[in-house]
Amino acid sequence: MPPNTAPSDPPRFDWNPIVILSLVALLVLLGGLYVTERAQQKNTPIAASPPGQSAPAAQPQYQWRMAVSWPKNFPGLGTATENFARYVAEMSNGRLQIQVYGAGELVPALGVFDAVSAGSVEMGHTAAYYHKGKIPAAPFFTAVPFGMNVLEQNAWLYYGGGLELWRDLYEPFGVIPFPGGNTGMQMAGWFNREIRSAADIKGLKMRIPGMAGEVFSRLGGSAIAIPGSELYTAMQTGVIDATEWVGPYNDRAFGLHEVGKHYYYPGWHEVSAGLEFDVNRAAWDSLPTDLQAMIRVAAQAVNLDMTAEYIARNGVALRDLIEQEGIQPAQLPMELLGDLRRVALQYYADQAARDPDFARIYTAYRRFQAETHQWMRMSEQVVFEYREALGD
Ligand code: CA
Repeated sequence: MPPNTAPSDPPRFDWNPIVILSLVALLVLLGGLYVTERAQQKNTPIAASPPGQSAPAAQPQYQWRMAVSWPKNFPGLGTATENFARYVAEMSNGRLQIQVYGAGELVPALGVFDAVSAGSVEMGHTAAYYHKGKIPAAPFFTAVPFGMNVLEQNAWLYYGGGLELWRDLYEPFGVIPFPGGNTGMQMAGWFNREIRSAADIKGLKMRIPGMAGEVFSRLGGSAIAIPGSELYTAMQTGVIDATEWVGPYNDRAFGLHEVGKHYYYPGWHEVSAGLEFDVNRAAWDSLPTDLQAMIRVAAQAVNLDMTAEYIARNGVALRDLIEQEGIQPAQLPMELLGDLRRVALQYYADQAARDPDFARIYTAYRRFQAETHQWMRMSEQVVFEYREALGD
């Protein structure tokens, strides 16, 4: 240490203009950095970076079970659930693994909603009309006789307030529903006797679920609820005289053309048929927001993808049924459709008078259908008219 400099000497500062300007510039820079940092903190979801868990490897893993109402890997319905589980596993880099269990593996085909509600599984894939005994308005989210087609139904759910009504309806059961695929228009079904008028419905034992079953019963038929996997045997042994299932693709896979004589269209009872992913509320709340978003996006992808798959595969299967199996599909008489519709509208009025949820959702559903109809008539309908007229 030089002898002429004492250790306690204060540092000398030369306050010339250059030093002052440099200090001001430094303060401005630090202030800017502080504001930027605050803004970034505000935009970062808390769940995406929990304190002390900065590395991806430290993020929690989730193992979920999904019970479904169909045989595992059943064409269309079953592959949608496998796709859903795969999308979520890939998007989450394995943080959310969903194991799919087919009908009967964990719970019966028609017990999926109850299992999700009770929390014995985290989620399920099923159809809302299977639980109409518990929730009379639930069938609006599967199939409505003489109701909306798949384009209109998805428009209502995503942009017309339908999904909010659905969520409210399931809220008391601790279940969050997501649209989970739609088969599009179905076939009226397979019948072992010719159907010419409402008189031919009398005494007919038919597997026909949902509100359509109620309508069918009011015309003197006997509506029976049977899971899809038992339809072939039930038709073969005469337990039922008729059954609807889905359409050419799924019907052919079940071999229904081997046990049913007459194949009728249109599927007045399932103008579109939507399925649902049900998620247990507590399980949902346990997930970070990024995994919740992956479930939402995967469900929407599967929902729209299923319709595309059904349209593609129904076309091929219908051709094969006609050309290889000798099936001649026939259209139900318009007068019979008129009778069925009249009874359906009466049924809706009766249910609305009995159940406030049914009344609220029915009103919203009919209003949306009426609003959309004019546009559909001038767009989709005309395409088929000009194809027929021009021989396309
Ligand atoms: Ca069906």
